[in-house]
Amino acid sequence: MTSFNDLFLTFTRFGWTDVVDILLVALVIYAVLYLVKGTQAVQLLRGIMVLAILFFFLAQFLRLTAFRWLIANTIPVLLISIPVIFQPEIRRGLERLGRTGLLFGHSTPEETLTRVINHVCRASQRLSERRHGALMVFERETGLQEIIDTGVAMDGLVSPELLTTIFYPNTALHDGAVIIRRERIVAAAAVLPLASDLRDRRLGTRHRAAVGVTETSDAIAVVVSEETGIISLAYNGRIIRHLDEGRLNRLLHAFYGPPSRPSLRQWFRRDRKESQQQEAL
Ligand code: ATP
Ligand code: MG
Repeated sequence: MTSFNDLFLTFTRFGWTDVVDILLVALVIYAVLYLVKGTQAVQLLRGIMVLAILFFFLAQFLRLTAFRWLIANTIPVLLISIPVIFQPEIRRGLERLGRTGLLFGHSTPEETLTRVINHVCRASQRLSERRHGALMVFERETGLQEIIDTGVAMDGLVSPELLTTIFYPNTALHDGAVIIRRERIVAAAAVLPLASDLRDRRLGTRHRAAVGVTETSDAIAVVVSEETGIISLAYNGRIIRHLDEGRLNRLLHAFYGPPSRPSLRQWFRRDRKESQQQEAL
């Protein structure tokens, strides 16, 4: 009862200066988190957060009063930091929630899928041998209409011949990305959003665009480098490089299943590329 009275008293004394007080504290915490966001410190903070929550329950269980006091006073700060630290995951989660495909999703028949994947892999191999740069995006449940509208509308069945022709250097459609919806190419020369942060600084805009489109959608992108001929695959904001026709084929089949939730273990992985490679193997 006393604690209820305390609480009641606190609320009756609550004035506008307290609002300013709380806002200032929140602002400082937000500013600090904003500064470390996107840096290595984020990984550290995530680790501390998980440890603090674990220790809190442990301290509660073993009745370690002083330690519990310490943890209890840091947890509110950590709670405020959740939206900032986990912003990319939260954004991706909300995007996933908002996907029309979740309710009205279509499924591509197995044979069609295999045929399209085989064609894209064959095209990638040929483009790689010729050092012709290419960027091919598979639309899945997230609609990519806004991106399609930035390019030139098309309606052609996917084939290695069509893809290699589109990406032939210095032709009108070779710049930008091709968007594939089921078994059809629906757009060429489309402009993709660039990735917010790509660890490998050697990768240029084509690779950044491939990763970018997969950051906010469940799309899969295949890139062929003009400079090196290296074939890469981007999925879920990550990139796997140095693929050949066979491995690309296996990975596309593996990723073309239902979109998977990133596991808690992956969230705490430092290197996205590394985790993706392990997941795919
Ligand atoms: P490469 O290994 O092929 O050289 P890269 O990653 O080094 O690729 P750039 O050399 O900058 O990237 O490649 C530029 C080409 O990438 C452009 O000519 C264009 O075709 C494509 N590109 C760049 N930005 C985008 C984008 N936002 N959307 C789609 N395509 C893009
Ligand atoms: Mg380049």
